[in-house]
Amino acid sequence: MRLVILGGPGSGKSTQARQLCRHLGIVEISSGNILRRAIASQTDLGHKAQPYVEKGELVPDEILIEFMRQRLLQPDTAKGWVLEGYPRTAFQAEELDFLLEDLNQQLNWAIYLTVPESVMMTRSVARYVPSEQTPPTQNQAQDSTPSTKSRLDDHPKIVPRRIELFYERTVPILEYYGYRQKLLTINGDQPPEQVQQNILHKLELDD
Ligand code: ADP
Repeated sequence: MRLVILGGPGSGKSTQARQLCRHLGIVEISSGNILRRAIASQTDLGHKAQPYVEKGELVPDEILIEFMRQRLLQPDTAKGWVLEGYPRTAFQAEELDFLLEDLNQQLNWAIYLTVPESVMMTRSVARYVPSEQTPPTQNQAQDSTPSTKSRLDDHPKIVPRRIELFYERTVPILEYYGYRQKLLTINGDQPPEQVQQNILHKLELDD
């Protein structure tokens, strides 16, 4: 099964992606997590992405497309995947299709989690904890990966820009998948278990 999860900031994409992957025994590929890890470990990708991610801007298509291409060629993707946070622009969606065509594979569904803009804002900002309030534990201090769920780009001043970019750059993808009859729209403004159940029901995977 090959799935894409679409939604604005705070729509619950990563929660649903994680549960779906567990349920289906396939790999979760989150562009946001990949980028945050690359930034924390200061890889070449991290250096290129950091100025964009910190400001809530999108990382340029050419950087991410090539990276995701390589990622989707790894052997752990053979049984399928859930892509979370990618594609995020129409160009990325087209490039994903070209890659799948090359590989003789097909996307099953793009799942769109809808939530009102006010929910995107409150959920994202609720994750934000100013860094002085989260002194690292000893283990976390030794570990270079980000410690808590708190993210710099959940800052109340940055979230509106991410929401704006979602409407400007990601919403057009809905039409792209809708036209290809690949779009499943799910109400994301419900408890996570309910959202998951609705997704499984629409995928005809519930019992
Ligand atoms: P969100 O909760 O806003 O969906 P993510 O964790 O998916 O956040 O992404 C965090 C940041 O990483 C984005 O604001 C953007 O800077 C960058 N990013 C992630 N995925 C992409 C992508 N597909 N294209 C461009 N930039 C991306």
